[in-house]
Amino acid sequence: MERIAVFPGSFDPITLGHYDIVERAVPLFDKIIVAIGQNAQKNYMFSLEQRKKWIEDSLKKFPNVQVDIYEGLTIDYCKKVGASFILRGLRNPADFEFEKAIAHTNRAIANKDVETVFLLTSSGKSYISSSIVRDVMRNQGKYEILVPEAVRIS
Ligand code: ADP
Repeated sequence: MERIAVFPGSFDPITLGHYDIVERAVPLFDKIIVAIGQNAQKNYMFSLEQRKKWIEDSLKKFPNVQVDIYEGLTIDYCKKVGASFILRGLRNPADFEFEKAIAHTNRAIANKDVETVFLLTSSGKSYISSSIVRDVMRNQGKYEILVPEAVRIS
């Protein structure tokens, strides 16, 4: 059976933290789907098309990585694409507490068919988050050091 992992997130925008998780997960799975979750309640800084394009351009060197968009529950999307794994990154204790509750819930409602796999952020990347990147961008700071080369705002 193909080992397919879904890496869900907002990616508003993709950062070097996301890139690090994908790069290190590539050898672990046959296929990784970076899936942009659409949440009607959230306000995004960048359009879906822009976020998708930046992810595709940033990760194009990995042949077993695809990019997709989904709405609704992540586990329903996993079932749809035949994924048995959800990939998430952990930066700090706050991430851990938040992710623990979601992973337990997903496992319970997915009938244990979907396991969440966590990778610890590489040292030096744990401070990077999309919200900090957005703040730096809004204030004309040097956001380039926090994101893959493909992410450029004009
Ligand atoms: P969400 O809105 O689901 O939190 P994000 O795009 O912010 O979406 O994050 C997607 C995933 O990437 C999450 O698992 C998050 O913990 C992980 N992630 C984000 N930044 C980093 C980082 N610097 N190091 C490791 N993982 C990260």
